[in-house]
Amino acid sequence: MKVSRKTFVKSAAILAGATLLNTQKTEAQITAALVSLENDFALPPLGYSYDALEPFIDRQTMEIHYSKHHQAYVNKLNEAKAKITSWNYKTLNDVLVNINSIPKDMQGAIRNNAGGHYNHSLFWSLLKTNTTPSENVLKAINENFESLDNFKLLFTKAAMGIFGSGWAWLIKQDGKLKIITTPNQDNPLMTEIAKDLGTPIIALDVWEHAYYLKYQNKRADYVTAFWSVLNWEKVEDLLANSR
Ligand code: MN
Repeated sequence: MKVSRKTFVKSAAILAGATLLNTQKTEAQITAALVSLENDFALPPLGYSYDALEPFIDRQTMEIHYSKHHQAYVNKLNEAKAKITSWNYKTLNDVLVNINSIPKDMQGAIRNNAGGHYNHSLFWSLLKTNTTPSENVLKAINENFESLDNFKLLFTKAAMGIFGSGWAWLIKQDGKLKIITTPNQDNPLMTEIAKDLGTPIIALDVWEHAYYLKYQNKRADYVTAFWSVLNWEKVEDLLANSR
């Protein structure tokens, strides 16, 4: 399945926009955010406190996950980038879409760390308490999955079915919503790597580091808690800008 380059550029702009907190996201600001990626990659602002998602996602997990795990992906991405003399990617999306053009000896490091950077940046923006799905979101979910309850059931099943570390996704692919999973830090933007390409709408980190401190081996409880902190406003935003 191919997704047009325009779609990727659009989703890059959305992700970049997510880092412009509490500001009106003008085209100029989004462009500026994209251009800044030409230099070193950087941790985006979280936009809320580490304890904002309590009790569903605990303060300590958020702090370690953001300031240690995500920071490590950013650092390793910059280290790997510095070793590639032919680097000519302007945005994170450029890197993900063109992962096959990265020199073979550096491809693994870029794949893991560019993926890790993108996935976590998106994930943070998809977390917020006390939001509800809009009519537009409900309509799209009902059309594709019959009901919100059935969607949650199928998404949970997918998240529970991931062996080891990975991500569960809701993506838009050829105009339809689809639930997929990816191993490790792969994502649906990675041409010729991802089994399913599409525009990310929902992302859930199911690496143990995302939940082990609070939930230990009980991944199901973590996935249940996710529904209480899923930012449906962001879902609406991503859906409205997808096709
Ligand atoms: Mn993670």
